[in-house]
Amino acid sequence: MENLRDKYEVVIGLEVHAQLKTKSKIFASDGCEFGHDPNSETSPVTLGMPGVLPVLNKEAVNMGILTGLALNCEIPERCKFDRKQYFYPDLPKGYQISQYDEPICVNGYLNVKGKRIGITRAHLEEDAGKLVHAGSDGIAGSSYSLVDLNRAGTPLLEIVSEPDMRSSEEARNYMEELRNIVRYIGVCDGNLEEGSMRCDANISIMPKGSTKFGTRAEIKNVNSFSALQRAIEYEIDRQIEIVEEGGEVIQETRLWDDNTRETKSMRGKEDAHDYRYFPEPDLMPLRISREWVQEIKDKMPELPQAKRERYMGLGLSEYDASIIVEQMGLALFFDKVLELGASPKIAVNFIMGEIAAYLKEKKLEITETKLTPENLTELISLIEKNTISNNIGKQIIFDMLKDGTSASKIVEEKGLSQISDEGAIKEIAQKVVEAHPNEASAYKNGKVQLLGFFVGQVMKETKGRANPKSVNEVLKEILG
Ligand code: ADP
Ligand code: MG
Repeated sequence: MENLRDKYEVVIGLEVHAQLKTKSKIFASDGCEFGHDPNSETSPVTLGMPGVLPVLNKEAVNMGILTGLALNCEIPERCKFDRKQYFYPDLPKGYQISQYDEPICVNGYLNVKGKRIGITRAHLEEDAGKLVHAGSDGIAGSSYSLVDLNRAGTPLLEIVSEPDMRSSEEARNYMEELRNIVRYIGVCDGNLEEGSMRCDANISIMPKGSTKFGTRAEIKNVNSFSALQRAIEYEIDRQIEIVEEGGEVIQETRLWDDNTRETKSMRGKEDAHDYRYFPEPDLMPLRISREWVQEIKDKMPELPQAKRERYMGLGLSEYDASIIVEQMGLALFFDKVLELGASPKIAVNFIMGEIAAYLKEKKLEITETKLTPENLTELISLIEKNTISNNIGKQIIFDMLKDGTSASKIVEEKGLSQISDEGAIKEIAQKVVEAHPNEASAYKNGKVQLLGFFVGQVMKETKGRANPKSVNEVLKEILG
């Protein structure tokens, strides 16, 4: 397939649904926290009872505006809500309240690894409930499904990209950056596995050099970044095969199955007119004043891109900066350590080294350990003041992660402070040289690389506590 790939250009646009972290639903006061008993967060509005009226949740609008600003969108002065008609067993009203021709955010973009990806729009809408497929232990052994409406009415922001991506890798990078952003601005957990962020990938192919896009297939049900990339790769090959055999790709919705690693047709794709959109008569159009937008702009936290650039300005490599920003817990911890005045270089060595290894091994977040930014900062200052060596620091950080003990306490209890006193080092070095007469004479006869051996012996004697610079100097002096 590799050489066939060269004949085609791939076109990808993503629709990403981000579940907004409001306390209550978008048009009702019941809660939208995950994990309650089935059908316990179901007010009459959520159930779609006749005669009930939706009331817009202002916090959902605030989060929509904040996200739009973070994605460089315009926030029009006016937006409105529309009904989108569906029949689904978990959608009791028979329609979803969404936004159609006047969404809350328009004309944005995101710079992802040097490439600008357009964002057509982002609109607010309500989520549907959930079907729980209960298998075949039901009535008379038949299979059955249950409806849980707790999720119905949870606010979603659907972020629609332009068809600007040209490879599965670009799509993944875009999705990862989007996830970083919604996390940093606090509007969404960004958890693909749990479905708080969902992605539909639209994919088409066209002959290289062509400017006329092919027919797209929409892939649903990808719930990890790697699954997104696999699904796109599979879909590209599927479409190339169809076109190569003289067939035509049809516009449809396909489901990705990450176990069999293929997409399957789910249904023909509706066009907008099939939904029979019309303005939601129970909600007034929304006027968003410029003051309102400004107020939210003023609260914008530092975005991932700016954070990466700031870290690189402190001397971090692009790689280190990206890794830290990817893990928001680590980045906030690092920021705290910097604020407390620690050396960025030493801090990043600990974070990317021992701390990352420990977190990976124990499958923990930094906030789940006992290490505090204050304690790490103190440890770093002990190293900078030469009270302890870097090596000792690397040993005691594990106790600090496990028990929350301060560095100075461990150093005091275990007697780990660095020996910088020349007299003491001289005494130990003298003994070491006397204990190895053969090596000593070999050194004197010109085998100067043996210095490393002697340094190692002195470090062993002092359990790593001797100041390496002094050891070197003293040994050279003794060995002549
Ligand atoms: P719908 O809800 O019908 O899927 P949207 O306009 O919400 O329509 O989303 C369409 C998505 O498909 C956008 O992300 C857009 O960039 C993408 N898209 C449109 N045309 C193509 C195409 N030919 N190939 C790939 N992606 C496309
Ligand atoms: Mg779509």
